[in-house]
Amino acid sequence: MAKTVVILGGSYAGLHIAHALLKKHDKDVKVILVSKNSHFFWNVAAVRAIVPGIVKDEQLLVPLESALKRYPAESYELIIGSAESSDFAAKTVTVSTSAGSSQTLSYDHLVLATGSRCPSEDVPWKASHSYQEVISLLSRTRERVSSATNIVVAGAGPTGIEVAGELGYEFGKTNKSITLLCAGDKLMDGDIIAGAAANELRKLNVTVKYGARVTSSQQKTADGKQEEIITLANGETITTDVYLPTMGLVPNSEYIDAQYLDAQRRTVNVDDYFRVPGAEGVWAAGDIVCKPRAGFMITQKQAAGVAKNIDLVLKGKEPTLVKGLPVDVMMCAVGRGRGAGRVNSIKVPSFLVWMGKGRTLALQMVPGYIDGSVA
Ligand SMILES: Cc1cc2nc3c(=O)[nH]c(=O)nc-3n(C[C@H](O)[C@H](O)[C@H](O)COP(=O)(O)OP(=O)(O)OC[C@H]3O[C@@H](n4cnc5c(N)ncnc54)[C@H](O)[C@@H]3O)c2cc1C
Repeated sequence: MAKTVVILGGSYAGLHIAHALLKKHDKDVKVILVSKNSHFFWNVAAVRAIVPGIVKDEQLLVPLESALKRYPAESYELIIGSAESSDFAAKTVTVSTSAGSSQTLSYDHLVLATGSRCPSEDVPWKASHSYQEVISLLSRTRERVSSATNIVVAGAGPTGIEVAGELGYEFGKTNKSITLLCAGDKLMDGDIIAGAAANELRKLNVTVKYGARVTSSQQKTADGKQEEIITLANGETITTDVYLPTMGLVPNSEYIDAQYLDAQRRTVNVDDYFRVPGAEGVWAAGDIVCKPRAGFMITQKQAAGVAKNIDLVLKGKEPTLVKGLPVDVMMCAVGRGRGAGRVNSIKVPSFLVWMGKGRTLALQMVPGYIDGSVA
């Protein structure tokens, strides 16, 4: 009888693992992919998609069904829904579907790939919402960016720098003011590329405000116009037309018993094989693990490792250690023309960052996630 592999989350990790297993097992395995969003979302390019007229929604979001339909119909099932609870002892997970029903799925292997979300519900950075919600968030953000006079981006990590850079590239020479709020005194917590990124932002007329840790924000409608009031840790308030927070990712792990989670970070604990200790047949990859940090290339490596290990176990063999990337790569696109980056501690020139990342934001990789060649 076919073994059932339930994969929770249809993004970089989940879809990769689904392809890898379906390519190798068309009769002895049934893959059930459960995802809140019916589409695969290339969120790496979301930082550019908030600028009107540059990236089309259909380049960013592709139906998961179009990725899976190349496999025999009996070898997979796609459920658009949300994992609400799990029982690792009974080997079941309960899912509420987008059609409004509840389903309890039994598994032989379970992959936790539900990633992470932004604390703010109002930004289109992740596929944490349904397809329609992501599409309308993207379109609303573009409209607001288009009509704004002031835009404030908060969080001076790679995402915040990229968002500010895209806005600076498009609007830096217009009457829009673009400000990036940085909690500390250096971008990216003082990473060696912080200075280069700050220089690039300056060239695009983005103002960086240091020592500006956001404690809260509030939306207000005055004279029919929406405003955002941001409060900083030092008590200062900033009023702006558009506020785009980028800091802090929250793991989507609420459906998992606390004993399997890191007490502070709420990420899933895994061993060196990316198994969840104490939970037979349960594996995890990607942002839900967030080890060593969130990143789609790190996720790719982990997804390949988990898929390989499930394949080995299905064949009655021992799993192997999941290796990380051989080098630590940090590439930050700063607008559509330049960037800042490093490989380990070696800085990468701006034009190489542009060539390797900023030119397309890796949109050319989307077809590989759909046709399965990524796996
Ligand atoms: C704006 C932005 C830009 C980025 N740019 C880069 C970059 O340039 N380079 C880089 O390396 N990394 C980048 N990252 C990080 C990268 O996006 C993540 O590492 C990657 O998304 C992790 O993929 P994942 O599959 O683990 O999870 P996610 O992409 O978070 O996807 C999780 C999936 O699970 C689904 N889901 C959530 N909860 C449930 C549930 N309860 N039940 C069922 N399904 C659920 C979601 O709908 C989603 O489909 C960026 C992140 C952001 C926010």
